[in-house]
Amino acid sequence: MSDPTVQPVPTAVVEQVDAADVTLSNPKRAVIALGSNLGNRLETLQGAVDLLEDTPGVRVRAVSPVYETEPWGVEPGTQPSYFNAVVLVRTTLPPASLLERGQAIEEAFDRVREERWGPRTIDVDIVAYADVVSDDPLLTLPHPRAHERAFVLAPWHDVEPEARLPGRGGIAELLDRMGPTGVDPREDLELRLPE
Ligand code: ADP
Ligand code: MG
Repeated sequence: MSDPTVQPVPTAVVEQVDAADVTLSNPKRAVIALGSNLGNRLETLQGAVDLLEDTPGVRVRAVSPVYETEPWGVEPGTQPSYFNAVVLVRTTLPPASLLERGQAIEEAFDRVREERWGPRTIDVDIVAYADVVSDDPLLTLPHPRAHERAFVLAPWHDVEPEARLPGRGGIAELLDRMGPTGVDPREDLELRLPE
């Protein structure tokens, strides 16, 4: 027999609590990869870090060292090398809004979105958002190629050695398994953590 003193949970009310409300009171950790191979690459990376910090609902927690990476999928010597870095944030924005903000930052630096793997002032990729796993082509989480990209894993490992890539395992092991990587730490360069 059902207990008449136990009120059923009204499902309509439960459904009204949408994802944005939940994340607002419960910031999520996200990992963002930055890459630049046009113009003043270091200045552009710093500008992207600063714009992330200026975003309401985003706090930059850590900024990785800078790595230099030869572009791939192109004729050697035809494009400048990349500067890459990884930024750890805490955010109350849902994943789609964080992606939108990343794209707005790309536009702020006049990224020309023409040929795939063409040179770009700045590329902002969401590597991971909490433990979210999604195969949506507009926002695949974790980023579908992060686990095989040393220019993402190496800087990420520097700032969060114990991190795991949902569905792929520990990033230290992923890096180890990769062997020599062709990404060079640029110890002469440094990004600032915004105040
Ligand atoms: P790439 O970063 O692979 O070199 P683009 O930056 O041009 O290429 O991104 C192409 C599309 O990838 C974007 O329009 C975006 O919707 C989609 N995308 C899917 N998953 C992600 C992700 N995790 N981070 C950033 N963009 C993503
Ligand atoms: Mg991208």
